[in-house]
Amino acid sequence: MAQDWLRDVKPAYDVIVIGSGLAGLTAANRLATCGYSVLLLEHHYNFGGMATWFKRKGGHIFDISLHGFPIGMVKTCRKYWTADIAESVVQLNGIRFDNPQFSFTTTFDKADFTDKLVNHFKIPVERVEEFFKFARSMNFYDDQKLTIRELFERYFPGRLDVWRLLMEPIAYANGSTLDDPAITFGIVFSNFMSKGVYTFQGGTDKLIMKMKATLKANKVDLRHHALVEKVLVEKGRVSGVLCNGRTIRAKAVLSNANLKSTIHKLVGDEHFDPDFLREAAAVRLNSSSCQVYMGIRKGESIPYVGDLFFTSTHPVFDSEALNAIDVTSRTYSFYYPDTRPGSDRYSIVCSTNANYEDWITLSEEDYKRAKETLIKGVVETLEKYLPGVSSKIDHLEASTPRTFEYYTRHVGGASFGTKFEGLKISQNLPKQMGGLFHAGSVGIIMSGWLGAINYGVIVANEVDKYLLRGASPSAEDVTAPAMSESGV
Ligand SMILES: Cc1cc2nc3c(=O)[nH]c(=O)nc-3n(C[C@H](O)[C@H](O)[C@H](O)COP(=O)(O)OP(=O)(O)OC[C@H]3O[C@@H](n4cnc5c(N)ncnc54)[C@H](O)[C@@H]3O)c2cc1C
Repeated sequence: MAQDWLRDVKPAYDVIVIGSGLAGLTAANRLATCGYSVLLLEHHYNFGGMATWFKRKGGHIFDISLHGFPIGMVKTCRKYWTADIAESVVQLNGIRFDNPQFSFTTTFDKADFTDKLVNHFKIPVERVEEFFKFARSMNFYDDQKLTIRELFERYFPGRLDVWRLLMEPIAYANGSTLDDPAITFGIVFSNFMSKGVYTFQGGTDKLIMKMKATLKANKVDLRHHALVEKVLVEKGRVSGVLCNGRTIRAKAVLSNANLKSTIHKLVGDEHFDPDFLREAAAVRLNSSSCQVYMGIRKGESIPYVGDLFFTSTHPVFDSEALNAIDVTSRTYSFYYPDTRPGSDRYSIVCSTNANYEDWITLSEEDYKRAKETLIKGVVETLEKYLPGVSSKIDHLEASTPRTFEYYTRHVGGASFGTKFEGLKISQNLPKQMGGLFHAGSVGIIMSGWLGAINYGVIVANEVDKYLLRGASPSAEDVTAPAMSESGV
């Protein structure tokens, strides 16, 4: 008999959270600590959304999106999760670049970046200071028309080498292009520049295990294998969800699913104003990703060659080339034994940005071939920096935009949610329908681990206000997020 994943689920809750990405988990936790009854429904067998991991034969464990985030994670985890979780956030020191324009290792903080810009790129120190000051001062209410390209042109005209240094890591972190609003760069870049790049020691499995334990202690009802098919609406307000064929009622529903699928599939166009729908339809999704997972055989080791390595053979930074199926730029994350203290294992994950359309249009045979080409290119490139590494690899596997779509149900396998305009739509959902909220990677700045967690907190506060009042939020309640609380 098929397993009933919703066994003993209650007929009604104060809040139902759809999806267990970092925003969904955090919002569920916040709402439970406010005293609400919360049900969290996740379609996958695991929690975490893109913050996830998988195991393979041979003792291999691979993290999907644990490559780096800013120091802000420490404060956020301490404040909204536990001190114990915050204490596992540790710095990565070796951020390495090798491309036709430059080659060096940096700690990726303001002091080292200033040194590189002044001594390597020969930019006057006053100019560098001015740039940092401007980037730091940018906030949500600023001119949103200035593009990243215009920002770079203003401070570093014609210096495509500097543009690449500034842009390439951010493009990998949140899918930004030179034509996105400059504030999406300024906020995220400044977050990283404050103190460098951090990771979670113990791996994603440890993080999610600790989050699950906290949620259970706070009495959140957690269910996996629970696919929400519909958000139910009565008299212009949400009344619950349809999940695995069962109706469960709630006063509020917070969707951590993709913004577009929340609107068009889970709720349905018939429930929204035509103007809102037009604006929602115009929201662009962010790019997708490919990854190659390389497991080093038990007993073998690799020398320390840095933690994050941005390699490229493309002459300049170019978003189209960065996403192209004919890969020229790759980012390697090296996981040494101290990633999971007590382990003696090594693994390497290579990520590339990708266009969903390039991968979804392939026949099964071409898809298989394209994955093989992807893997071959990744290993051959790595071999140049770590000669002999291929003989130490005993597990190789690739994921593509199709894989990301399958596991997270993100439209277009979008890795970093939506482009900038998605934030407004996500925030305005409760004005369209009483009790309907959305949190998750949107608008570039609210993406990544830190942005998603912080957006979960912001939206949980909105749900709390709504439930306290028992009515739709007024326009003033739905404020722009505090920018200090955003960022990859
Ligand atoms: C390859 C890659 C590398 C990345 N690297 C980094 C990094 O190094 N640092 C960083 O900060 N960020 C990184 N990110 C981005 C980061 O992982 C995401 O921005 C963040 O984890 C997204 O969280 P989220 O809350 O938006 O939800 P998501 O992680 O998108 O999760 C949404 C959840 O909702 C569930 N769901 C959807 N629809 C339904 C439904 N109908 N019913 C039930 N459940 C549903 C999905 O299964 C999923 O679990 C990376 C992303 C990718 C793809």
